[in-house]
Amino acid sequence: MKRKVTKMALLTLAKRKEYFKFLGLGEYNKENIKKLQKKYFTRSKDIDGIYGQNTDYLLRHVYNVKKVCKNFEPQEFKCECGGKYCTGYPTQMRATELYNLQTIRTHFGKPMRITSGLRCRGYNNSLRGSSSSSKHMQGLATDFYIAGVTDSVARRKSLISYLKTLPNFDYAYGNGWCSLGYSISASYMGNAVHIQSKDGALPTAKKTTTAKKTTTSAKATTTDIGTKVINFASTQKGKYKSRTNHGKDGKPYSNKFTKYFAGKGGINSKGEMPKTYGYVAGYCTLFVVYCLKQCGSPVADELLKNLNSKAKGYWWHSPSLMKYYKKKGLLKTDWSKAKKGAIVFKGSKSPTHTCLFDKISGSTVYTWDGNVGGGVTYNSRKKSAFIGYVNPPYK
Ligand SMILES: [Zn+2]
Ligand SMILES: [Zn+2]
Repeated sequence: MKRKVTKMALLTLAKRKEYFKFLGLGEYNKENIKKLQKKYFTRSKDIDGIYGQNTDYLLRHVYNVKKVCKNFEPQEFKCECGGKYCTGYPTQMRATELYNLQTIRTHFGKPMRITSGLRCRGYNNSLRGSSSSSKHMQGLATDFYIAGVTDSVARRKSLISYLKTLPNFDYAYGNGWCSLGYSISASYMGNAVHIQSKDGALPTAKKTTTAKKTTTSAKATTTDIGTKVINFASTQKGKYKSRTNHGKDGKPYSNKFTKYFAGKGGINSKGEMPKTYGYVAGYCTLFVVYCLKQCGSPVADELLKNLNSKAKGYWWHSPSLMKYYKKKGLLKTDWSKAKKGAIVFKGSKSPTHTCLFDKISGSTVYTWDGNVGGGVTYNSRKKSAFIGYVNPPYK
């Protein structure tokens, strides 16, 4: 069956010049086109200094990777047919897909191996388990491996719930689980996970040129960080199963979460929460700050510094956190104004617990909690169970 191939018009001359400049390729001329081809193309017959469809795909691809990714090189996405059917760059990796890959790379902070990126039709059809309409052929899908993140069904399941929070997300699967929420068998994937995105606009921050625009941008960031924090908290569901006694037995929790705090913010080098200052550090408070930190909120660093101040009278637990915010005048009680991701305080006069606000429905408040039922869980309580909240961006 012959398939319709919709070819993209070649980049305008102005764009080619702009991309050449951005990539440091020098002037746009035959010699430099040849240099670009030589760097990436597999077959010598494709290195001709002529700007045609193949070179257009290559230039778009290299530009997208360099523009969107700080941890990936264009070659990591090369089609693996080895020149049998294509130049190695049968199309471009799309910016939305690259953006998500970079987000994943940054989120886990570990080396990420691209096991399959671009594919020409010939190569795709030669692969076991590949779909004849695979998004790898459109630069919208990638298979990747991260040690400790993709190498068991349980880990892939947890990873996929995180992937679903990414912008323009379309579909993901690995052996044992898929993003549609059910188990699938795909042993040919080994320990890799496939993620695909929709083509579209990147969620880049708007440029701030006027005072008015700055306000709009700040507002957008406000919404973003709260949503980000809640999305992240939801990916931690069921994690950090541990005792809820805040380490009163003096033993470390010894998991990834408390290890993160080891040696900082009042946690000792073993990740223990010591009974200093008459209190033991509150696991719930740490979880809240951990989520803020993982989502890039600068407030996390501010809290890490201030909640470890015996002199100022703050310690790692809910009463200190609430006191800290009350003093700043940021503690609110009108639930109609609570935003996604708000830090909420449970209790009557003095809080006994802190968690993250997802939504309110009627008089029921829904939250993500770090240490309820022995781990990270989603909970609902009457709003009368809470004292108040602090909206994002928490400052
Ligand atoms: Zn190929
Ligand atoms: Zn794939």
